[in-house]
Amino acid sequence: MKCFVCGGEMNPFMKKFFGMKNLESCEYVRCENCGLVVAKTLYEMPQKNWEALNYECHATYQNTNELAVDPNWLPRLKAQAKVIAELINRGVLDKNANALDYGAGDGKLSDFVAEKDWLKKFDKYMARPNENYLSAEDLQPESFDFVITCSVFEHLLGKNDVEKIFALLKSSGTMALHTLICEEVPRDPNWFYLQPVHCTFWTNAAMKIIFSRYKFKACAYDVGARLWFMFRDAEKISLLKNLPFVVSNDFVDYWKVKPYRK
Ligand SMILES: [Zn+2]
Repeated sequence: MKCFVCGGEMNPFMKKFFGMKNLESCEYVRCENCGLVVAKTLYEMPQKNWEALNYECHATYQNTNELAVDPNWLPRLKAQAKVIAELINRGVLDKNANALDYGAGDGKLSDFVAEKDWLKKFDKYMARPNENYLSAEDLQPESFDFVITCSVFEHLLGKNDVEKIFALLKSSGTMALHTLICEEVPRDPNWFYLQPVHCTFWTNAAMKIIFSRYKFKACAYDVGARLWFMFRDAEKISLLKNLPFVVSNDFVDYWKVKPYRK
């Protein structure tokens, strides 16, 4: 198996026992070059088994899942909404932008943003509860000025899934991203992030490649909201003065320590 980010060789890394109906155990492989780790078992699973596993997870830990994995989930969503509202205020993000929350779940992030309905919602695993949700047909390539994904990138199954998301952006578009990105994925089957439907584990090196592949020119990271903004228009970061962002002309590789919770 080759790394879908850099083409490097993927070597056996670890194995975890889940004992679920649709996932007895999971084998993980790691790229010798960029350190990306993927769940080989999930990548090679037939589509219908992957869907069954997703439904099994939803049914098993309905609603408690996000909180169990991540106790800071709700406060962080609020922090993310606040940052987005601030960027709209400053004109970094356009008030009239076509903006999308891809993988919106129950839509809390969009509801928390002060500009009401600024952020349109889409979730392929959810029936559309109201007209603020877009359908798959609404997701035309190069039609969004802003796309945000929160806790989506760890669920993507390789290059096509990643490309589909970046393809939604206009050529001058801005991407925002919340997922776990670390310097080195721990070789530890008990690591909290090894969830049954987490299939891709990102490193700084892998994300730097993605950053330049999709032609981003500047990056800003909000530590409190755990949110990266990736800009194709490098001028945007000059508008972030006096805001608590870590900025760079490359991907902001903020997290260097091993990704454990205290
Ligand atoms: Zn790689």
